[in-house]
Amino acid sequence: MGHRGAGLPPHVLLFPVPVQGHVNPMLKLAELLCLADIHVTVLVSDYSHARLLKHANLQSRLVRYPGFCFRTISDGLPDDHPRAGQRAMEVLTSMKTVTGPLFKAMMISNNCLASENRRPVTCIIADGVLSFAGDFALERGIPLIYFHTASSCCFWASFRIHEVIETDEIPLKGNGMDMPVSCVPGMEGFLRRCDLPGFCRVNDIADPYLQLLMAEFRKAPRAQGVIGNTFDDLEGPILSQMRNPCPNLYSIGPLHAHLKARLIEKMNSSTTSSNSFWKEDWSCMTWLESQPSKSVIYVSFGSLTILTRDQLLEFWYGLVNSGQRFLWVIRPDSIASDNEESQIPAELRDNTVERCHMVGWAPQEEVLAHPSVGGFLTHSGWNSTLESITAGVPMICWPYLGDQFINSRFVSEVWRLGLDMKDTCDRIIIETMVRDLMDVRKDEFQQRANQMAKLAKRAIHEGGSSYSNLNHLIDYIKSMIM
Ligand code: UDP
Repeated sequence: MGHRGAGLPPHVLLFPVPVQGHVNPMLKLAELLCLADIHVTVLVSDYSHARLLKHANLQSRLVRYPGFCFRTISDGLPDDHPRAGQRAMEVLTSMKTVTGPLFKAMMISNNCLASENRRPVTCIIADGVLSFAGDFALERGIPLIYFHTASSCCFWASFRIHEVIETDEIPLKGNGMDMPVSCVPGMEGFLRRCDLPGFCRVNDIADPYLQLLMAEFRKAPRAQGVIGNTFDDLEGPILSQMRNPCPNLYSIGPLHAHLKARLIEKMNSSTTSSNSFWKEDWSCMTWLESQPSKSVIYVSFGSLTILTRDQLLEFWYGLVNSGQRFLWVIRPDSIASDNEESQIPAELRDNTVERCHMVGWAPQEEVLAHPSVGGFLTHSGWNSTLESITAGVPMICWPYLGDQFINSRFVSEVWRLGLDMKDTCDRIIIETMVRDLMDVRKDEFQQRANQMAKLAKRAIHEGGSSYSNLNHLIDYIKSMIM
């Protein structure tokens, strides 16, 4: 590197897949690196940057961290292209073909993002499924770290998919979904075919998404390190397995709580900025204030799930018939429709049900931490799962895509923090499970949830595993410029 940038801090480029669930933890990591006096550039799509500008608190972040900046790039899709539901995968394929070459050109023509007061990028932290960013790093000799933003159990099962295919446990053929999967070390005895990541739910191993993701995960060992948003007491046995192909593994989660803890430590403030792609409706916090302790089940299916009207109605009747109070997030674009009107069915607009409050998007971390919330009906997205675990809230899991199918298995069978409702959507089952979680088996789940929340908090404070792993990661990034 010679004299270019001598005396300046390291400069890390963070490049997430530009969807809410990946941008969120990547931005938390960006802030943590800024707190350690590292320069950070976060590269997001024009589309997601516009969402963040509109609904998140970008300005406060730029003021707080002089070393922080955004860059934007096209994700290759028109602005009005759907990026949710099963079509979310189109973002990945389009990025591979369109964004990949743009990224390379941008890095080359901008001298790896160097400026008067910034070094050229000294390390790339790329989303674990954006191998074109990894290719560039390797070509240029820039140290590469992958950040797998989903669970490590998902990473590990995905990494082993070749072996699963060899033993004929995929393709999945409708029946037989309950059969055990035998060749993912560390998951023998409880992993079934239906628990495998969503991209395995195909009839043909030539399926392009299966092939694409299988290849992406398999590339992890070529990076100098792998980051996981998890903690050792949660996924320890799986992390030990992962260390065979990926010895430099940094488990530094739960990142949202880790950031809060370090902000208190370094700045005496725990205020974090929102990373939301939608406008947060804080009216639910006022509503929660007037509900009894642990009486409310929070219902949210994240940023990508799309429900059919039938599913929506099953959830509605299941929740109403359970007799419990509920706070339900119905994202404006989350109801499937063949025609223009995708509005909320009339039943749900029935405001005589006082036990319920609905919003389009909630400040979820705050909601889960509220003392009135006693359960979470979730799609088992990894961020939601970690936020629930940290807040000590038991879960009912209704996985929809990707890692959610395996996360829900771990929640129910391994950590015993709740119930797995995968592959059914029936009002009677919903009613029963909500009653079980909030009433019949409440103490049992709450006790487990309290224990795990304690371990999560221990991990991110001084002496904890995530705390020291983050310090190792920071030291490593700093050593790259020595
Ligand atoms: N989220 C939120 N408000 C909502 C719903 C979700 O702030 O009303 C946040 C949630 O806290 C989490 C993220 O959106 O951090 C969703 O990520 P997750 O991995 O759970 O699911 P995905 O959206 O990727 O399916």
